[in-house]
Amino acid sequence: MGDLNGKTALVTGSSRGIGRGIAQRLAKDGALIAVHYGSNDVAAKETVESITSAGGRAFPLRAELGIPGDAEALFAAFDTELAACGAEPGLDILVNNAALNFPARIDAVTYEEFDRTLAVNTRAPLFIIQHGLRRMRDGGRIINISSAVTSTAHPSQMAYSMSKGAVETLTLALAKDLGERGITVNAIAPGWVETDVTAARRATPEGRAALAAYSVFNRIGRPTDIADVAAFLASDDSRWITGQRIDVTGGSML
Ligand code: NDP
Repeated sequence: MGDLNGKTALVTGSSRGIGRGIAQRLAKDGALIAVHYGSNDVAAKETVESITSAGGRAFPLRAELGIPGDAEALFAAFDTELAACGAEPGLDILVNNAALNFPARIDAVTYEEFDRTLAVNTRAPLFIIQHGLRRMRDGGRIINISSAVTSTAHPSQMAYSMSKGAVETLTLALAKDLGERGITVNAIAPGWVETDVTAARRATPEGRAALAAYSVFNRIGRPTDIADVAAFLASDDSRWITGQRIDVTGGSML
């Protein structure tokens, strides 16, 4: 896979789950990683230590998303931490991964949960990209983590599905705009993945089997399944792909 030596990557929500897997993989490929997270200092430290103990480079970056000024605060911290590492200013790879979900059908969605979902999952990535582009070098990469919920109906996840649909539309429009800078913009749509989000559903053998049955490979996705695709999109090998939504569901949609 591509050589990311000399590149700097920011992966939002990389203290745990899929984001952690992406951070570890991009670090393995040589990138310096900003391990962003919201509140779980212990998990972020574990991610950073897993990277540095394997010979990679990473630093933690705490910033709450979904609140006014979130992107400015995130990048102020990013600039400071990057300088503290002795790294060149600037950004090469931005992965918008952090998201939350308040599962609810149409009759149960509340204003508060809807606004919070859109603020974290949709508004934050938009303004993180806006601020990130001021630092991103030409030839950079933007990877947005979407979800299978945009290609199949999940009425129990109404606000979440809408938030991810908007992320894919953002991906499409932005790709056209950034072509002249050689920056690609793509979305990854995972199916069920073994993270804290699915822990309750995986708690029983029946629950595990039900999630595994979505995939033609009859297993639940792992963070590395998603991370390997992110590594491809982050690499030079993907230079001719932009504005695309990549289904990474183990064939769950077939
Ligand atoms: P996790 O809940 O395991 O991890 C979420 C990460 O995002 C954590 O690092 C968390 O940091 C951070 N985060 C969440 N909310 C905020 C916030 N308001 N401000 C700052 N950071 C925040 O998520 P997953 O790994 O399961 O999911 C990652 C991505 O993949 C998401 O975009 C999700 O929608 C998508 N996805 C996941 C699937 C799955 O089955 N797991 C399926 C399809 C898509 P902290 O803990 O410090 O708050």
